[in-house]
Amino acid sequence: MQKGKINVQTENIFPIIKKFLYSDHEIFLRELISNAVDAIQKLKTMASLGDFKGELGELRIEVKVDKKAKTLTVSDNGIGMTAEEVDKYINQIAFSSAEEWISKYKGKDANQVIGHFGLGFYSSFMVASKVELFTKSYKKSSKGIKWACDGTPDFTLEEKSKKTRGTDVVLHIADDSAEFLEEGRIHGLLKKYCQFLPVEIVFGAEEETVQEKDDKGKEKEVKVTKPRIINNTKPAWTQHPTELKEENYKSFYRELYPMSFDEPLFNIHLNVDYPFNLTGILYFPKVKQNFEVQRDKIQLYCNQVFVTDSVEGIVPDFLTLLHGVIDSPDIPLNVSRSFLQSDSNVKKISSHITKKVADKLEDLFNEKREEFESKWDDIKIFIEYGMISDDKFRERAIKFCLLKNTDGKYFTLDEYRDHIKPQQTDKDKKVVHIYATDKEEQHAFIEASKEKGYDVLVLDTPIDSHFVNMLESELENVSFVRVDAEVADKLINKDDELPSKLSQEQKDKLKPIIEKHLDAQQYQIAFENLSESEHPMMITQPEFMRRMKDMSALGGMSYMGNLPDSYMVVVNSNHKLISKLLDLENEELRDKQVKQLIDLALLAKNLLKGENLTRFVQRSVDLF
Ligand code: ADP
Repeated sequence: MQKGKINVQTENIFPIIKKFLYSDHEIFLRELISNAVDAIQKLKTMASLGDFKGELGELRIEVKVDKKAKTLTVSDNGIGMTAEEVDKYINQIAFSSAEEWISKYKGKDANQVIGHFGLGFYSSFMVASKVELFTKSYKKSSKGIKWACDGTPDFTLEEKSKKTRGTDVVLHIADDSAEFLEEGRIHGLLKKYCQFLPVEIVFGAEEETVQEKDDKGKEKEVKVTKPRIINNTKPAWTQHPTELKEENYKSFYRELYPMSFDEPLFNIHLNVDYPFNLTGILYFPKVKQNFEVQRDKIQLYCNQVFVTDSVEGIVPDFLTLLHGVIDSPDIPLNVSRSFLQSDSNVKKISSHITKKVADKLEDLFNEKREEFESKWDDIKIFIEYGMISDDKFRERAIKFCLLKNTDGKYFTLDEYRDHIKPQQTDKDKKVVHIYATDKEEQHAFIEASKEKGYDVLVLDTPIDSHFVNMLESELENVSFVRVDAEVADKLINKDDELPSKLSQEQKDKLKPIIEKHLDAQQYQIAFENLSESEHPMMITQPEFMRRMKDMSALGGMSYMGNLPDSYMVVVNSNHKLISKLLDLENEELRDKQVKQLIDLALLAKNLLKGENLTRFVQRSVDLF
């Protein structure tokens, strides 16, 4: 038996690994299985090149838990190692400058350190008090080898007969890591990290019912136990798009998100081999109003090994709303996030994905406009968010981004401008887009606008105020006003403005009569010469202030949120009830009527609440 010291300068690797790679103990399993996959892939490659001429057999990895013996074993029938190789690859672990990396990587998570230092195999010491490795190389006349180490730099290496080719790594699980002896825990980890590995992984057994013929040739059902394979070795993203049908993409989605009840809207199959390697499938989910909960559903893989489901920094923020899988050996996985964001490969990958997403949307828009429109409401937040946050995406999406009006018709930005021009133009010759954020709440205003022949858009997502701001700066001569904003009621045709039925003197007399019922800080009064058929009083809100407040409610300018709302009370000089107020001698009755008109206007804008609403109802009943 050979005895020796592992080539590290520190006395004992075990406490180092435990202490400094503390955060993510579970990844040891991913590391061991990745090594096993590599060993099998290497053998396959050699066989295909003619360098290995023996029987490959059924290439598999097996994971076993023995609770009694307190061991967890990972076995493979890959290339195995000779004694020299064990000495070279396992003993001479190249972290001679151990102290240096300890100080450098102190406090970083295990993911970043492991791999970076080729510590994969040694990560088993995070959970094991002793590790044994039984291996036999594929090379002819190789002998079985046993290597063992208890976490001190002392190891043993000896010949030990082994029947089959390959490697068994036996972890003697430490007392404080007993969780890794639980079948459920290991099954969960295998599902998480290994669900789509390219080599079959066996864990436990399962029963299957098969048809068999008995002695008399009669068919009967029998139960057989067979190894339970926990992974899908050929996940959809590794296959060529031409091999896949819509149903395959959908069933892969269900495999990825077994808990999700929604079907994806459509998908994008990514397949790049230059200048970087990347495959994957991205799905467009139905984006919900509270889209934050849908984030972080994209899973990142490296050669089919699960790495993370936090792709922040790798794809642009708005794309994190998509679901699916990205697999790339070119993403530097073992580095910090801040490094990722500045890495040029990552930048290229990120802009490539953005481009692919825009391509897909544009194709759908050009080729299947009807389908695109039918999905618009579900993908709208996603596209708007992308246009707000990503310049490149905006350049593309501005062509296929749609606006929907209150009649449910969809228009591109250009189409819409033609649709409403010249009727909806303001005195500065800006094309005014009138929009509603809530069809129910703003019903009265929508109806009034439509009556005037205006078209009203529906912009009802939480980010629409940002979206509208972005469009105003992006498009020339376009402005947006909400249907209840102060401009919306006196848009165009200034020449056609009606004469006023009230003299200035009458207005001056009326103003304080109305004013005394209103909080001057919040409400201002303006007389306007509207048509007789319009309401006697209306409440409007300055577009700018309201939009800024909406935007701050979503985050950003917090100081805006604290400002009180300000409104305009528009008094229709031409309404007969208004002139009648002036004629009323009975002051008490006049006050009652003024209050009633104000409350009606507040009610139409959903501003009449609480005690004021109760009193209004009472007053209305008293009228009879
Ligand atoms: P890395 O995998 O990053 O190279 P490891 O410490 O995990 O670092 O492994 C070191 C080396 O040991 C591997 O590169 C491989 O040559 C060898 N090795 C580890 N596990 C196996 C295995 N199951 N079969 C064959 N060789 C292995």
